[in-house]
Amino acid sequence: MRVLYAFLLFALSHTPGFASSQPAPGVWHMVLGTETAAVAESTERGYPALPASALLSVGARLSYGRGEVIVQWGPREIRLRPDSPGALVDGRPLMMANPVYQANGIVYLPADFFSAILPQAAPGLVSVDAGNRTVRADPAVLAAASAVPAPVAEASAPVAMPQPAPPPRRRLVVIDAGHGGRDPGARGQAGTREKDINLQVARRVVEILRQDTTLEVRLTRNSDTLIALRDRPRMAARWRDEGQPALFMSIHCNAHPSRGETGYETYFLAEARTAESRRVQEMEDAAQQYEDDAPGGGSGDALGFIMSDLRQNQHLRESSDWAQMIQDRLREVHPGPSRGVKQAGFAVLVGATMPAVLVELGFISNRNEEQMLADPRQQDTLARQLAAGVQDFFRATDRRQSRAGN
Ligand SMILES: [Zn+2]
Repeated sequence: MRVLYAFLLFALSHTPGFASSQPAPGVWHMVLGTETAAVAESTERGYPALPASALLSVGARLSYGRGEVIVQWGPREIRLRPDSPGALVDGRPLMMANPVYQANGIVYLPADFFSAILPQAAPGLVSVDAGNRTVRADPAVLAAASAVPAPVAEASAPVAMPQPAPPPRRRLVVIDAGHGGRDPGARGQAGTREKDINLQVARRVVEILRQDTTLEVRLTRNSDTLIALRDRPRMAARWRDEGQPALFMSIHCNAHPSRGETGYETYFLAEARTAESRRVQEMEDAAQQYEDDAPGGGSGDALGFIMSDLRQNQHLRESSDWAQMIQDRLREVHPGPSRGVKQAGFAVLVGATMPAVLVELGFISNRNEEQMLADPRQQDTLARQLAAGVQDFFRATDRRQSRAGN
């Protein structure tokens, strides 16, 4: 019965004209091991579609370049283009009933990509139950498949694909000291200003990382000046060469009306998940009130935002992995509790075209942590752990690339 239903749905979704019938939006379930993410269909183009980022929830990697969306699953590679119904699976062309499209900076894949293309593209890696709108992947199977070298694409592939750029020599690390100038950030009971701690720790992180000559390390501000939040990732983007691997870390101290709050947490950019994440986001974004005449604080260019969602999606998983590495490093030295990896839509991370995190080193509103944060030896210890977190990320990247036979 289910097979028949799945077939009917499959057939329907491949019937021209289905597009105009405005189906009710459904919800897909992306299952990776024991984790399930619910993703709602969008029907604004008259056919059901899902944001490309839904694929992240079943273990795929997404990247964007030269007008293409590239989906990688272990050794499998699928290339798609906005406004095209074609999919190139390891060099083999397959057609969907409806085109990929982008709206409000988000790239959408037609639902039949999930029901029809995926089972053909990654047999054994994912299983799709289109009738129940469920896509399943097993992390162990994906990991094992990733260890197998990728097959060579057919020489007769009808579409010429651009060659990847040669790997650049140095990796870019951008360290951002939060607040500055007229914006002091949070203030401790003993008068410690967050902007000063952030800068002291950030300078130390840069000093430590610069000992590694394979890195190009930059600081967004090296003095007590105010830089508009949105300009900070833009500086990082300007510094970065085409294709250069890069990371962006914004350093902050937390504050809470309840002076008993302690501990450290690391955020990556995403929709704020909890009330507490939203509170911290609002606190950090309040810096924008000082920015009216900060240098370069102009309005964002629309074009830059069009693809920002996809670029962000590409980095969401990397950013959350990196945030966890930083938490693990801070745990080794920090007297306070780990408050975990969190998500929020910080303005300073929006527009970052590289993995980006915001670290809250501790609570300046707590007397003990204020004292710790202001102590140069403790700052050095924290900075060493942050620098180690940067190295952890690049080591993990190297391991992944050597496993992929790259
Ligand atoms: Zn801050």
